[in-house]
Amino acid sequence: MQIIRRYLREALDILYPTQCVHCRRVGSILCKQCLASISWFQPPWCVHCGLPQLPGKPCQPCYYHPLQLSGLRAISSYHQNPLRASIHAFKYAGKTRLGGPLGNLLAQAYQHYQLHADLIIPVPLHKTRLEQRGYNQAELLAQTCADTLQIPLQTDLLYREKTTSTQVNLTAPKRRENLQDAFYYMPGSTTKTVFKRKILIIDDVSTTGATLEACAAPLFAAGAQSVWGLVLARPTVTKGKRPT
Ligand SMILES: [Zn+2]
Ligand SMILES: [Zn+2]
Repeated sequence: MQIIRRYLREALDILYPTQCVHCRRVGSILCKQCLASISWFQPPWCVHCGLPQLPGKPCQPCYYHPLQLSGLRAISSYHQNPLRASIHAFKYAGKTRLGGPLGNLLAQAYQHYQLHADLIIPVPLHKTRLEQRGYNQAELLAQTCADTLQIPLQTDLLYREKTTSTQVNLTAPKRRENLQDAFYYMPGSTTKTVFKRKILIIDDVSTTGATLEACAAPLFAAGAQSVWGLVLARPTVTKGKRPT
């Protein structure tokens, strides 16, 4: 059913000329001009979570409550277009072909931030959400990113036990609590693939990092050497507060 829906969407895309999801220029799903106009986070940034910050220092939330991740990096602020509009179209309007240019952006970010990974894992979507949406946007991003970087991709290692539909109004500590034990190994899968390996988890957006932390927990428990998170966008706030 998911595959049929996806093919149907793609068939409709072919019937109608492709337009840029942001500026409506005909030709590609996200045009070169819009891609070039994305304003990447500029240094200095928090050494841990990657948000703009004083040089060489962790941001205030990372200082007091370090993320349970080896590190996190994002390309840009979630409040800015064309990235925000692209993520919306990708996630909520079935524009699955955005997985190409957005996944390539993540591959660029991997090199830009000098990350090192032996294995890429997308954040799994809960099966109910997967049935509703028809695709896991994190998986589409991770596929392109892994192909471009020639890094092995693992999509069937973890599954998501809990949905996060009630996350929106929760504070960072509550989100963490809510996401405890959210991800498990698939029955029959082996944890050997992550033992002493450097893992990169990919998602579209990270607000507090709580989902990435929850996803990293079983990987660390299985002996992963490092688990980094890489996302397209993060909400940004002033005064060093981590968004809630
Ligand atoms: Zn455009
Ligand atoms: Zn930080």
